Amino acid sequence: MRLMRAFYATQFTLQLPPGHRFPMAKYQLLRERLAAELPQLELAQAPAATDGELALVHSPAYIQAISDGSVDPRILREIGLPWSPAMAERARRSVGATIAACRAAFREGMAANIAGGTHHAYADRGGGFCVFNDAAVAARLMQAEWLRSHPRGLRVAIVDLDVHQGNGTAHIFRGDDSVFTLSMHAQKNFPSRKEPSDLDVDLPDGCRDEEYLLALEQALAELDRRFDPGLVIYLAGADPHEGDRLGRLKLTWDGLEARDRRVFDWAWARGLPLAFAMAGGYGVRIEDTVQAQVTTFRVGTQYAARWQNRSR
Ligand SMILES: [Zn+2]
Repeated sequence: MRLMRAFYATQFTLQLPPGHRFPMAKYQLLRERLAAELPQLELAQAPAATDGELALVHSPAYIQAISDGSVDPRILREIGLPWSPAMAERARRSVGATIAACRAAFREGMAANIAGGTHHAYADRGGGFCVFNDAAVAARLMQAEWLRSHPRGLRVAIVDLDVHQGNGTAHIFRGDDSVFTLSMHAQKNFPSRKEPSDLDVDLPDGCRDEEYLLALEQALAELDRRFDPGLVIYLAGADPHEGDRLGRLKLTWDGLEARDRRVFDWAWARGLPLAFAMAGGYGVRIEDTVQAQVTTFRVGTQYAARWQNRSR
């Protein structure tokens, strides 16, 4: 029986030079493990986001430049991935996967993107392995679709627990009180210039499970006090794990799983549809990153099962 849908774009892989820091192989590994271990998950190919959808967030000139390969070399250096037609297509599909996950979440409670969480992308430029901002585009598109059948607008909470600050997302929604941006991240980590989110939680190097989970509890309580969302987009970065090369934090497997459970539980208790995306993960061992992400999906399907029981 299918409990949850997850969308992928793993057929578009980038040929990266040897020794490149981006772990492109993790998406395929994740998809293979999910297919083998979680039969209750339905894997579906993500549609490509259209120009019109991307333009809800991104400038037409930037969309065009990514599409035809004329993107400014300085911006490309900031992104850190070589341009190719597959890179442009993958970026669109990755946004399309979060859009599809949000639509599925409205129907079924929970759904996921096997990639995405590209929170370093701004309206007019990418950065830090991020081309387009999937959560931002999906949030704006869901708001637009919502207004076609509801008198009042949709409020979206973006809960970004990737270990790096969600600078692009924060900048895009600066001054927009219909989207609440929460970012919990390692304070000394990339990006060096952070943008103010609605709520930023700066964590010290070496932060462990207990401290992290307490900070998360307080952050969700503050979100509750300040905002009343109708949809949650959750960036479940695996990079707070202690085995991560770039993370600087020291969360254990149990700590990461408790984090995911807490976010899913928080949304469930409030009846909020939730779409999640993978965001970062740079394990010393790539299998560790994939393991953390498989756990997020396993826990996710448990909450999806609760949703199905509720709606029956
Ligand atoms: Zn990250």
